[in-house]
Amino acid sequence: MLRLYNTASREKEEFSPLELGRVRIYSCGPTVHDYAHIGNFRAFLLADLIKRYLRFSGFEVVHVMNITDIDDKILRRIGAGGKSLGEFTEHYSQIFFQDLHLLNILPADVYPRATAHIPEMVALIGRLLEQGLAYQREGSVYYSISRFPAYGRFARLDPSGMKEGISVDRDEYGKDDVRDFALWKAWVESDGEVGWAAPFGKGRPGWHLECSCMSMKYLGESFDIHTGGVDLIFPHHQNEIAQSEGATGKPFVRYWVHNEFVNINAEKMSKSQGNFYRLKDIGKTAEDIRAYRYLVVTSHHRTVLNFTLEALESSKAALRRLTQLRQRLQQAHGEGEAGLWKALAAAALAEFCAHMDDDLNTPRAIAAVFGLVNQTERALNQGHLGREGAGAVLECLERVDQVLGIFYEVVEEVARPAELPPELALLLRQRQEARQARDWKRSDELRDQLAGAGVVVKDTKEGYEWSWA
Ligand SMILES: [Zn+2]
Repeated sequence: MLRLYNTASREKEEFSPLELGRVRIYSCGPTVHDYAHIGNFRAFLLADLIKRYLRFSGFEVVHVMNITDIDDKILRRIGAGGKSLGEFTEHYSQIFFQDLHLLNILPADVYPRATAHIPEMVALIGRLLEQGLAYQREGSVYYSISRFPAYGRFARLDPSGMKEGISVDRDEYGKDDVRDFALWKAWVESDGEVGWAAPFGKGRPGWHLECSCMSMKYLGESFDIHTGGVDLIFPHHQNEIAQSEGATGKPFVRYWVHNEFVNINAEKMSKSQGNFYRLKDIGKTAEDIRAYRYLVVTSHHRTVLNFTLEALESSKAALRRLTQLRQRLQQAHGEGEAGLWKALAAAALAEFCAHMDDDLNTPRAIAAVFGLVNQTERALNQGHLGREGAGAVLECLERVDQVLGIFYEVVEEVARPAELPPELALLLRQRQEARQARDWKRSDELRDQLAGAGVVVKDTKEGYEWSWA
């Protein structure tokens, strides 16, 4: 039975999903205003580990990760570069997807983009206004945290002491309370062409709102697991709870799972320190990239990971040892004590699972595997391991790999993947449906959305063709 440390209760809790056998997970995805750094991938590797372990344990998993393609930083940066919002964010999204692929992170079922969900966000703001949890000021809409009594409970903050440390954006005029946060930001001159019409005036959604809106759209008003880095506990996740539970009156998320930071040589990663690494900075070879995955997934998600080149080297050595053992096992032949090795392999796998069940304790889980590795290497060296025994150990390693995802070929992709990312494929299908229903307005909207993501659709006699712009 899996137990997960739940940030909401600050305790390890037994995991059981709302729906029998089916787990719904939401992960805060990247803001595509820049390249992701290696610390960002820790959050995505944690979501991947959870997903793999749940599937390994027999659950069906539905996973949604948003793409934040509109926010203050994006607007500042496109203001300088002369690109359209779509062109700008598509570039960083593509690099992000490539990095996920390099790290062997299983794709989410849906990657919703904020700019493709404006009507749903406007509707959610409408619900909050109706319930008196939000108010309008000069074209913006703010969430009134004093109207949500549980505000601060999740983040373990006393709302009365929360005024310090809250930054107020220049464009947030006339809030009733400095702690209130924006659900909708009124359009200002510097936003240029970016802005959407809404009953409260032209503008754009706030970042916190998009996660509440898109998670509930794809996973329902209550779902099982929400992941993210510890830096998102406050205010982002606290605000998601206030928005979702405020609007629905139902519990939003059952288990909140957060990962700690990655430090570089015992220092915090930051651009000003000059120790801000992208995956390609540390991953010159396929082996480096696999080693980074190994390092992260075999470190406990709730402890700060100190990234050093030595740590990467020892991960490489461990992976090499596992890979070599795998090859030797594949070539093993002859007779041996098959029954003994089957029992040893089964015991190692059971121990691996017991540690995984304990809040995904991967350092201990991998240590259990290395116990078996030590014994197996010795037996191979002494010629004691027969083909059947080798098969049992090999099977154990393959099962472990279903969870850790460490034996894989790193394949460099070309700049544009041959297949459409799932969220674009979905748009393409929806456009086809709209055409069949002769809903030209909808089909044009969808074609524009696809064009914004760099996909050109051409209608043909047989249906349609698509290509990258
Ligand atoms: Zn989020």
